[in-house]
Amino acid sequence: MSTERAMVVVGAGECGARAVFELRDAGWTGPITLVGAEDVHPYERPPLSKAVLTGDAAPVPVRDADALREADVEFVAGVAASDIDRDRNELVLADGRRIPYERLLLATGASARRLPLFGVSYLRSQADALALRDRLRPGARVGVIGGGFIGLELAASATARGCAVTVVEAEPRLLSRAVPAEVAAVVADRHEQAGVDVRCGTGVAAVRDRGVLELTTGETLDCDVVVAGVGAVPETALAKNAGLAIDNVENGVRVDDRLRTSDPDIFAAGDCCSFPHPLYGRIRLEAWRNAHDHAVTAARNLLDADEPHTAVPWFWSDQYDLNLQIAGLPDAATSEVVRQRSDGVETRFGLGADGTLLSAAAVGTGNAVAKDVRLAEMLIAARAMPDPASLADPDTALKALLRAAKSTPQPA
Ligand SMILES: Cc1cc2nc3c(=O)[nH]c(=O)nc-3n(C[C@H](O)[C@H](O)[C@H](O)COP(=O)(O)OP(=O)(O)OC[C@H]3O[C@@H](n4cnc5c(N)ncnc54)[C@H](O)[C@@H]3O)c2cc1C
Repeated sequence: MSTERAMVVVGAGECGARAVFELRDAGWTGPITLVGAEDVHPYERPPLSKAVLTGDAAPVPVRDADALREADVEFVAGVAASDIDRDRNELVLADGRRIPYERLLLATGASARRLPLFGVSYLRSQADALALRDRLRPGARVGVIGGGFIGLELAASATARGCAVTVVEAEPRLLSRAVPAEVAAVVADRHEQAGVDVRCGTGVAAVRDRGVLELTTGETLDCDVVVAGVGAVPETALAKNAGLAIDNVENGVRVDDRLRTSDPDIFAAGDCCSFPHPLYGRIRLEAWRNAHDHAVTAARNLLDADEPHTAVPWFWSDQYDLNLQIAGLPDAATSEVVRQRSDGVETRFGLGADGTLLSAAAVGTGNAVAKDVRLAEMLIAARAMPDPASLADPDTALKALLRAAKSTPQPA
């Protein structure tokens, strides 16, 4: 292992693995070390609840195996970083090795939130997905705890494999976090059409032996497989032990708008950190695009570019033939405008109290919603304050609203 000062990245997930390539693209020619706790090549997580579960698809690498070698990145796999010696600028690995760093990026992601119940599986890693796939046999009775994105993608994939699926959600509706109720209702209908038994307003009190779910309604549910998708918890142990500022357990490692932690030589990015956004205040996102966008900003700022991170959040989910997309954060909006196209596709825009566009959410089959949500994302980035009537009118092109927004100076 090199003793020359290096750029060191902890966490070989979406964000960390992208960041090492961005460092090269941004001109860093010195050593780069990528440390990953998992004993595998960096892979994409989104397919794990989709194509990897439904078929025999292999996990998809972030970049192919040769790319890390060609970029001259030293990849230390299967070893967790256990400490940061901030006095000596050294990362300490669980096997005792020490790696000196010029700058350090924490991209430690998040892990599946655990329930205090026995006999429950989770889906976060490639190993989780491959183990689960083997158990999702045709006819298997699958109990999914949690009607959020992971739980619902799992339900759709298990249904596609011929399983009999029940989703148990404690909230009164599915996707209650950050998805407009009408969009969530379309998704709920599609699950019911596919034969999924969706039970909202129902909790799980206990899991008895042999997969018997005891529900808060007093009913019991016999399951062959019980799997929970009840959120993710940011991986902050390393940062916390090193005395770096943490927002709180939920909000992860606290960084500024340059993604710099409370130590000027250490940055954090992706699912593990909370950061200030110019439109939404301090947020922590669990989204593929954010991990990617953070990797770009963090890599550039590791090299002193001193650029703020301002990218508009964007998220997608695929369930059956449905594709759901959200730009911005619907929860930040105080009013809503609905635009209904002649083909039936509805986009729900969220506006702030001053009329600034803050979000757009839509669900449709195939690629139907992609263009409008992409334009909405550009409108949000332009800090557009569109006339609500024009926004609602499908005959007014979103491109025209974007041109208008760009030609009108918007408040910073
Ligand atoms: C099943 C699934 C499906 C998803 N689908 C979608 C989707 O459809 N759309 C979407 O927008 N987002 C989706 N996401 C979310 C998206 O994948 C994540 O937001 C993204 O992976 C975050 O990237 P990250 O690099 O920050 O964290 P992670 O991908 O979690 O990677 C962090 C890595 O750091 C490693 N690590 C942690 N601590 C240490 C340590 N101390 N030392 C060394 N290594 C360490 C971990 O083992 C892990 O490999 C999905 C996530 C999952 C799990």
